[in-house]
Amino acid sequence: MTSVPNITLNNGVEIPQLGFGVYLVPPEDTKETVLSAFEVGYRHIDTAQMYGNEAGVGQAFAESGLARDDVFITSKLNNTFHAHDDALREIDGTLERLGVDQVDLFLIHWPMPGIDIDYVETWKAMEEIYVAGKARAIGVSNFLSHHLRRLDDETDIVPAANQIEIHPYLQQQDVRATSAELGIAVEAWSPIAQGQILDDAVVLAVADEVGRTAAQVVLRWHVQRGDIVFPKSMSRERMVENFGLFDFELDQSQIDRITGLERDGRVGPDPETFNWIPKS
Ligand code: NAD
Repeated sequence: MTSVPNITLNNGVEIPQLGFGVYLVPPEDTKETVLSAFEVGYRHIDTAQMYGNEAGVGQAFAESGLARDDVFITSKLNNTFHAHDDALREIDGTLERLGVDQVDLFLIHWPMPGIDIDYVETWKAMEEIYVAGKARAIGVSNFLSHHLRRLDDETDIVPAANQIEIHPYLQQQDVRATSAELGIAVEAWSPIAQGQILDDAVVLAVADEVGRTAAQVVLRWHVQRGDIVFPKSMSRERMVENFGLFDFELDQSQIDRITGLERDGRVGPDPETFNWIPKS
């Protein structure tokens, strides 16, 4: 089986560079889907309170027979729970649903600019969660450079990771550069632009050159840039396809041609304006 390299986070915790995302995996299908992903070889699962499927991830882990140390689980604080006391309470719900004592990485899901709770307050609660040992690492998601700089100026712990939308149509070089400068690992969500990149002529040409699929070529582009990825698919065949990234390489000209596809092409919400509060 191909082995997935680890990336070392700024507190020494290691995260597999390739994982499996479960956004939009229905709760009733999550256990079986994640068990399939474990069978394929994935050992890093990306879930969130908002996805409503942490319990299914926990059931899959329990049934898998895998050791706790062999599986890396990320979850994210829901937009509803940014208040200090809410965050401290809700991490316990995550741990209970996952059936673990400690999550490997816990993220603030969105900065939420329009609510009256400052994300700096939320981050201070995240620091308490970390100090209490309920998360091996803490980080953020959808934070832009100015958000990261405020945390750097006003709080004690540098986030271990920043999970943001990245794919060849939206590369976020400024946020990647700020993250790198501050020692924050970058995680690329929607790494294949929810499928929209897969019929791009440049991607298909590179795929043809290396004898791989469009999805493999785009995911490999992320890997060679050093970002962490966790494509989502409920099909076993695609899980296998997306796992096959570590036995081929793109050359510099192939990387450059894919990088040339930047077009400010967001497929998800803009963190500057996104203020969605899910109904609970
Ligand atoms: P993605 O880029 O992984 O694309 C998923 C879509 O592509 C699905 O429709 C899937 O069926 C299809 N697909 C997957 N592999 C394929 C293949 N080999 N060939 C053809 N089609 C394929 O998009 P995503 O699910 O939005 O992102 C991945 C993960 O990122 C999520 O599951 C979640 O864990 C995370 N995420 C985080 C945030 C955030 O705000 N932090 C937002 C969105 C997603």
